[in-house]
Amino acid sequence: MALSPAAPRRILFATPEIAPWVKTGGLGDVSAALPAALAETGLEVRVLVPAYPALVAAFPERVAMARIERPGAELLPATISRAALQPRLDLLLVECPAFYDRHGGPYQDRGGRDWPDNALRFGLLSRLAALLASDETPLDWHPDVLHCNDWQTALAAAYRRYRHKAGAAIVTTIHNLAFQGLFPLSRVHALDLPAAAMSIEGVEFHGQMSFLKAGLQHSDRLSTVSPTYAREICEPDHGFGLDGVLRHRRDRRSGDLVGILNGIDTRQWNPATDRAIAAPYNARSLALKQLNRAALAERCGLALQADTPVLGMISRITLQKGADLVIEAAPGLLARGARLVILGSGDAGLEAAWRALAAAHPGRIDVQIGFDEALAHLIEAGADLFLMPSRFEPCGLNQMYSLAYGTPPVVRATGGLADTVVDCTPRTLADGTANGFAFGPPSSDALLAAAVRAIQVWRDPGTWRRLQHNGMARDWGWAPAARQYAEWYRSSLGRAR
Ligand code: ADP
Repeated sequence: MALSPAAPRRILFATPEIAPWVKTGGLGDVSAALPAALAETGLEVRVLVPAYPALVAAFPERVAMARIERPGAELLPATISRAALQPRLDLLLVECPAFYDRHGGPYQDRGGRDWPDNALRFGLLSRLAALLASDETPLDWHPDVLHCNDWQTALAAAYRRYRHKAGAAIVTTIHNLAFQGLFPLSRVHALDLPAAAMSIEGVEFHGQMSFLKAGLQHSDRLSTVSPTYAREICEPDHGFGLDGVLRHRRDRRSGDLVGILNGIDTRQWNPATDRAIAAPYNARSLALKQLNRAALAERCGLALQADTPVLGMISRITLQKGADLVIEAAPGLLARGARLVILGSGDAGLEAAWRALAAAHPGRIDVQIGFDEALAHLIEAGADLFLMPSRFEPCGLNQMYSLAYGTPPVVRATGGLADTVVDCTPRTLADGTANGFAFGPPSSDALLAAAVRAIQVWRDPGTWRRLQHNGMARDWGWAPAARQYAEWYRSSLGRAR
């Protein structure tokens, strides 16, 4: 008779980035907020992350816990050190200066080139995650579940498969299937994986090795960051070649692939307490939002009148995010009297196109290339509408920030956008669920039509207030997701392969 598994108590959360110290996108935010929310449910959580310079500087009091002299093959020796974050939540830093003490981003140098040894850098992170989750751990802390995140940690499941068999359940979350960690197949030796791993059941993917595929194959359970994205990645359109593996997992055992919607960090993103905006406000004091609108216009040099809608966008400037669709829709938006504020960075060609557009329309379009947390808050508070026309969007955080800030979003109905934004129609207005505007085809015409619809509703203040209130009334925080993750961990126990 199978015993029903006990509830897990200890979670090792492995991640390549953690806000506010190291963040290139939503994963950094999730890695800060989700472990904190899990700890608040009573779980004991340790976050394993490389000791990048920003983390070393932030935690001078960290304590060395173990030295791993021979992680294997070309993986370099490392020290695991520990620093406390909050009750029941610690950081475990992987100290290996030759791999992580570099100026530049976590994955790329300052020139935007991938670090040439990324396979080894994130191979080490994965290897140590697997080691700490195994019975051979050098620490006296034995996790029940190792939670891996994205390709940078996904190889842990392959290390368990080929190197350490016992220990914690391993679960892997896909934050963006587009990034897979592809390297020459011959690197398996340098990573201390056996030749057997070079097979289609192992880490091989179209003649290369794929860190992510290893995680998809060998983890006990998989999740992604919204229910709609969980369905989409099983189809060829959104599967990036891995839809077959994902379908196999989904169909083999019910619950092997789940979608759990991210939350937002309401300590950082709350219009009532936000110190980065001109005038804090809540659903009962929405008139104060006007002060933020004025501050945004001044900061960005926009000429505004009372009936001028301000459309904001904060994004990586890439095709995924539909940055090109907004460029194409811009003339139509300007023709309706709109103003555009865009903050972001990314693809060099698209950045240049954005700059040219702003130069051609001074006072009407403002483009800020770069990463600016304070301006991001002011845009969320000061814009009237928020644009997020992503071609695909695993979850998306900005649309949830904008819903919480009473800035209804205009989104393409995909992934987490489809799970959070309810299109404004007579029916959804009547049943009190409408909170934004959604469109289907990934085209600038469809985006423009949705934005024009939104501007029409914005010109009707009574209806607009209802939309704003509907978005602001929901709890967008992490507590609901933390409960679902805790249940997911519980159901993964006893599944270790
Ligand atoms: P992704 O992870 O795909 O880039 P998300 O919407 O999930 O997109 O998360 C992006 C995060 O990064 C959000 O916290 C967003 O506010 C932030 N962000 C993105 N670009 C910028 C920028 N240029 N300046 C400030 N914050 C940014």
